[in-house]
Amino acid sequence: MDIELITIGNELLLGQVLDTHQQWLGQRLAERGRILSRQLTVPDEGESICGAVQVAMSRSQLVITTGGLGPTSDDLTRGLLADFFGRPLSRDAAVEAHIEDYFRKRNRSMPDSVLVQAQVPKDAVVFPNLHGTAPGLGIKLSPNPFGTNVDPAWLIMLPGPPRELRPMFAEQVLPFLEKNFPLEQEFHHRILRSLGIGESMVEEKLKDVIRPFLDRGLELGYCARIGQVDIRLSGSGPDMPIVIAEAETVVRKAIGKHIYGIDGQTIAQAVVERLIAIGETVAVAESCTGGLLGHQITNVPGASAVFAGGVLSYSNAMKEKLLGVNASILSKDGAVSKSVAIEMAEGVLEASCADHALSITGIAGPTGGSPEKPVGTVWLGLASKGCRSIAIRKFHPFGRESFKNATVNYALNMLLRRLNKTAK
Ligand code: ATP
Repeated sequence: MDIELITIGNELLLGQVLDTHQQWLGQRLAERGRILSRQLTVPDEGESICGAVQVAMSRSQLVITTGGLGPTSDDLTRGLLADFFGRPLSRDAAVEAHIEDYFRKRNRSMPDSVLVQAQVPKDAVVFPNLHGTAPGLGIKLSPNPFGTNVDPAWLIMLPGPPRELRPMFAEQVLPFLEKNFPLEQEFHHRILRSLGIGESMVEEKLKDVIRPFLDRGLELGYCARIGQVDIRLSGSGPDMPIVIAEAETVVRKAIGKHIYGIDGQTIAQAVVERLIAIGETVAVAESCTGGLLGHQITNVPGASAVFAGGVLSYSNAMKEKLLGVNASILSKDGAVSKSVAIEMAEGVLEASCADHALSITGIAGPTGGSPEKPVGTVWLGLASKGCRSIAIRKFHPFGRESFKNATVNYALNMLLRRLNKTAK
């Protein structure tokens, strides 16, 4: 089955908004054994939109468009494509009632223009918008005037805002696809998420042990990000759950100490879940990551049960005053040093009474480096009640944002490893 995605919007082409639909929809489809064949972005302009849809529908059973369903003058998709397919628009009473209710509940006066969103093409499937006003719309073309080999072909138009599109797709469109485009065989997949090992090393360690599973139909894929590699095990058929489970055991045997989680789990989630499971807490002392470590931990629902808090000690004075870092150590070893990382971790451990404390002190750059401590150098400290404190030096010369992300991930992984080790 061919599936094409057309994301619509000048803001995407101008680079003002990152096209996250491609990534998010691609992932959701792949999880269900359906792979996007192509993706195209077009401006809010009639000819471009119709031309792209026509070409896509001449070769694909399913074409998804995103954006342009709103009420403003640059929102063209609904009227334009209804016209293009010769499907007159008419008022849908249920959608109109939903839009009126949406404004009433928010105590906002409703401009008449928003009711254009209740105009629905003839015979369209309506996907109600539970988080906004413009519904998604599905149009079946049969016969398909654009491609006789592709009959029927479906066009599904989805709203642009991610907070509207995502629940609509997950809760309504995916079940719709499963009903209308059933897979020949059940699809299964598992993602094992690793940290602290490079992609080529993962491949090297797995290539021989995984081969027998490939012969049994397993598909293996890698996705590398800075400091992280996802290992994707997938395949179709009734035996696949067993093949995937056996392959997972083999992968864990080969690189298990690097695997922190599965599927969509983040390292912060893995840490918070582990802390909740064992009833322990963590505090943080951050310098160059500017609060990102605390931010990642507090992004996880339920973090309040395990996160004591943090100190954002960017300056030396704050490191001294709030964390008790020794002034002479600061001037002798410098702020980016093993001794300071350990004092920061121990200082926040004591102040917070948490069970564990992580610290980060480094040079994000682009300035501030030296031959001994080049930009990208970072020390990560870990102190725990009743355990020897440790610090590790890492080198992440990636630019400020990637530096912060890689460093925070590494710090969380350091803690996770200690939690897993002490639990054994
Ligand atoms: P609205 O009613 O908000 O106008 P719409 O369906 O007409 O919704 P657009 O106007 O095209 O959608 O987009 C609304 C907003 O949704 C954009 O400004 C952008 O912030 C976001 N958005 C649109 N397309 C994408 C995309 N591909 N990836 C991420 N965000 C997007």
